[in-house]
Amino acid sequence: MTMSWTGDPVWLADVLREAGLRVIEHDGWRDRGHGDFADLRGVLCHHTAGGGTDDWRIVQYGRPDLEGPLAQLVLERDGTFRVIAAGVCWHAGRGSWPGWPTNNANYHVIGIEAVSRGDGTDWTPAQLDAYKRGCAAILRRIGRTADDCVAHREYSTEGKIDPAGIDMDEFRRDVQAFIDGEDAPMSAAEVNQIQDFITAFCGPIGSDVKDIREQLCGQSQRDAGQYAGWPQLGNRTVVDALADIYTRLQRLEH
Ligand SMILES: [Zn+2]
Repeated sequence: MTMSWTGDPVWLADVLREAGLRVIEHDGWRDRGHGDFADLRGVLCHHTAGGGTDDWRIVQYGRPDLEGPLAQLVLERDGTFRVIAAGVCWHAGRGSWPGWPTNNANYHVIGIEAVSRGDGTDWTPAQLDAYKRGCAAILRRIGRTADDCVAHREYSTEGKIDPAGIDMDEFRRDVQAFIDGEDAPMSAAEVNQIQDFITAFCGPIGSDVKDIREQLCGQSQRDAGQYAGWPQLGNRTVVDALADIYTRLQRLEH
């Protein structure tokens, strides 16, 4: 039996940011919602069926027939997540999925409304990449696998079609790879961090040749010829860390 996170996901913004994603926190999001979650069991994926820069307004404020918020997160076309609410939102409707309570998913899953016309043809690469990374970060946080990353159309018994144009088997494979930290190409933010790191590292090496061995290998027991690596590199030497970066950059090119 899988342990479930209990309580509202007040960590949403932090978890997404830690995954290298851009986040906009809407005022009052931690207190917005239709009551508190029971426990968290997964993520339900939607499209807005709008496609514009104002789609989030309906998600936050609702429609004449349905009071907002309608989902915890909105995913913009450039891959930015808007954090709308930490409480329960009205997005799931009637339906079922293994391990989720039938017709009651709103109290157990986080809804992501991705901005799209809804015809399956306008997803951007940045948006799809962020969609998978965001789902993975949330599922990892609540101790679940990609099996609990579900399309509204898979869950719904009300004829939903969203998110249109996304192959969920392929989507879940990629999400699980992100959860596992394997074969996960880097985000733009990660590439920038690595470039900053290399720039910062090459300064001291160039300015003081005597310390090159220490810079490369870490300080501990260097006189004995044993190197502990650098704590900030996961106790790897610079060569091992760069090899890891190089491998991941190669994957980016595919
Ligand atoms: Zn939906």
